[in-house]
Amino acid sequence: MDVFDAIESNVRAYCRRWPTVFSTAAGTKVTDERGREYLDFFTGAGSLNYGHNHPVLVEGMIDYLRSGGILNSLDTMTPAKRDFLRILADHILGPRGMSYRVQFTGPAGTTAVEAAVRLARIATGRERIVHLSGSYHGMTRDSIGVSGLGAPRGVPPAIRGVTTVPHEFEQPSAGRAAEELERAFTAPGSTPPAAFIVETVQGEGGVRPTTTARLREIERLCRAHGTLLVVDDVQAGCGRTGPFLSFESDGVEPDVVCLSKSLSGVGLPMGLVLIRPSLDVWDPGEYSGTFRGNNLAFVTARLALSEWWSDGALRRSVSQRSRPLVQGLAAIATRHDWLAPPTGRGLMLGLPCADRHVADLVSTLAFAQGLLVETCGRRGEVVKLLPPLTVTKAEVEVALQILEHVTDQVAGSRPVGSTLPAAT
Ligand code: PMP
Repeated sequence: MDVFDAIESNVRAYCRRWPTVFSTAAGTKVTDERGREYLDFFTGAGSLNYGHNHPVLVEGMIDYLRSGGILNSLDTMTPAKRDFLRILADHILGPRGMSYRVQFTGPAGTTAVEAAVRLARIATGRERIVHLSGSYHGMTRDSIGVSGLGAPRGVPPAIRGVTTVPHEFEQPSAGRAAEELERAFTAPGSTPPAAFIVETVQGEGGVRPTTTARLREIERLCRAHGTLLVVDDVQAGCGRTGPFLSFESDGVEPDVVCLSKSLSGVGLPMGLVLIRPSLDVWDPGEYSGTFRGNNLAFVTARLALSEWWSDGALRRSVSQRSRPLVQGLAAIATRHDWLAPPTGRGLMLGLPCADRHVADLVSTLAFAQGLLVETCGRRGEVVKLLPPLTVTKAEVEVALQILEHVTDQVAGSRPVGSTLPAAT
């Protein structure tokens, strides 16, 4: 028995899907201790949008460490934080005509969501939050409360003041979807909600996009009822779907935006919320904590913004790189009655399978062939692909070959009768 089995908690999960010891990585490739190489199409759950250990970011970290720069600064001021804020303003907010203020939350997606939910309640003096079925916003109390994938064990079931609206995926009739959405704002006897929290593409829920029309309708209702529109861009943001902020292509203007995962670009933890200035009603220190100033992450985040977001090149290349992957997945899906056409946007893609069992099998067999892909979805039935935004054409081709081979293998071993449910 190795030390992981001996003393690491039973809660560990990804190591069960990929039972090897990963030791080094570069770009899309990860190598384990035995020297086996894998193509990483999961990229730290979307926290490595520029691939592993990009030399620009690694050199930046080494230089900063050598210079004796401060690592934890709480929320005091440092040159590293100043440079990051400047570049965020110059490369992201300014060119998009956005004037958000930046709150550094705890260093994870879930803490950004917690801060957004609490701020919405304070700023509006209301309590209720509306969210979509199938959404996922994190593992801390309020984030679980506004997630639509069911509460994990140990969390009291009744978290107050949350209304669930069916996502389009669950509610194919447009008329009923619009009715249910409207009712979340106007239910008789209830105060309108403090906030509507939404992912433009549901990540954990199965790579299910929320349509532009639906996002705009949510925004219209939010404006009509004084409700804040919160976009959780933790997974879909930082270029994953093409634009730096995923909602840019939908033409909506959220009041609050949650970002984390790929902000630092090298997997260093970092989380923040963007807040419309008039809503920045926090008292100093009201939402405080030890880890508000990961300066190494500020350094790499600044370098990532200047390397990839000073122009529109990466955004354009995401759609170029996405196209062959989508086409390849679509071709694979036509070969088997238990696969549906790919879902998603940009390089956030899902391959829906008939059930959890086959999706797990695809992932397990892909690992054996040297490809890392995870599963997600309402029933764990979707194979998720999150390659680096810098993935090469050749790497996409290899991944597709592996998936084609693996899905043929699955077809050979699949029990009779597990075909794709009609809903997908
Ligand atoms: N929001 C979304 C949309 C996410 O996908 C995730 C993580 N998968 C979170 C929040 C929570 O982020 P973290 O795991 O860093 O707490």
